[in-house]
Amino acid sequence: MDSPCSWCHQPAHKPCTACQGAPAYENDAPEVIYCSSKCQKDHWRTHKPDCQQRQTRISLRRAAVLIKDIFRKMRLHAYPWRFAEVVVAEPGKQVFLNGFESNASMFVPLLRAFPVDLVVAGDQELRDAVLMFRGCADAMLFLYEFVEEIREHIAFEVEEITCKVINPRLNITLQLAEDHNNVANVDSHNVYRVTLRNGEQWVIDPTGAQFGFPDPLCTWQALESNHVDMIHAENPLGSTRSFVRHLEGMYRRGTEICSLKEELDLMKALEMRVPLLFQVFGTDLFMTLQGGSDAEFDQAKEEFLGFVERCFRAALVEINSIQSILRRRVDTERLISQLRREV
Ligand SMILES: [Zn+2]
Ligand SMILES: [Zn+2]
Repeated sequence: MDSPCSWCHQPAHKPCTACQGAPAYENDAPEVIYCSSKCQKDHWRTHKPDCQQRQTRISLRRAAVLIKDIFRKMRLHAYPWRFAEVVVAEPGKQVFLNGFESNASMFVPLLRAFPVDLVVAGDQELRDAVLMFRGCADAMLFLYEFVEEIREHIAFEVEEITCKVINPRLNITLQLAEDHNNVANVDSHNVYRVTLRNGEQWVIDPTGAQFGFPDPLCTWQALESNHVDMIHAENPLGSTRSFVRHLEGMYRRGTEICSLKEELDLMKALEMRVPLLFQVFGTDLFMTLQGGSDAEFDQAKEEFLGFVERCFRAALVEINSIQSILRRRVDTERLISQLRREV
């Protein structure tokens, strides 16, 4: 069925190609559509500012997808949880990760390849949910440089919001191998609140898949009214990363300290490579975020993710060398004996 032309209200079916498919914001007018090129031309003077706003939203959605995919790539190579099996108790609602092993050794890399084979083959949504499980703080730690780039090119402000998810569509529970104490999904969840220059507020949630919200972009209003309850904290971009850097003294167990050190080593090794990554890609990546077809964007994204993956592999080799593992172990033992003296 044809909708009315945005200019003359006659039946129409040609969308404005520049803003076609842009995400809708709150009480937005419907998609801009024309009956003829004449109407499109005549409407342009009126439509131009609105068209530009809608185009910014297209860029933002592409950025959100990119951010989510970067983190997905990272987690495929460096996953912190070890479990024996994935049990789908209620499809789309309840998942148990059984046989969780927490007694890792300080001598082996604690971040390892994601156990792809354990997750139901072909179920991309379930795989992503398990892949993103309890990953929101890690996302804030590792994605900083990339999100900073988005803030600079697209948004006016990006904040790190800590909130509580209510009405999750999916619950994931990690069940310990040794006893029956479970590690359920944590209470606090981190997302980015993005404020555009025109005042619109959006949310980029790279790890929402763990709660059954796989779409990485929604409006702030939609998040507040549908799936979060309390907002625990509203912090500037990069604050989770600074907080994690200072966590060491709060942990008491060697493996916890060691795994934190491993994550920080990985963050440093990656951050050294990010400027090179952007040099290789120049501003082209952000050009494709801001213009061009979805197919062009997808192609640029895949290429970029290929580079990210290579950077990531190199960073992992670096932090998993014998010298690095031994250094982390020495550092950890030093910290533990220091903590014991303080008690
Ligand atoms: Zn018309
Ligand atoms: Zn338009």
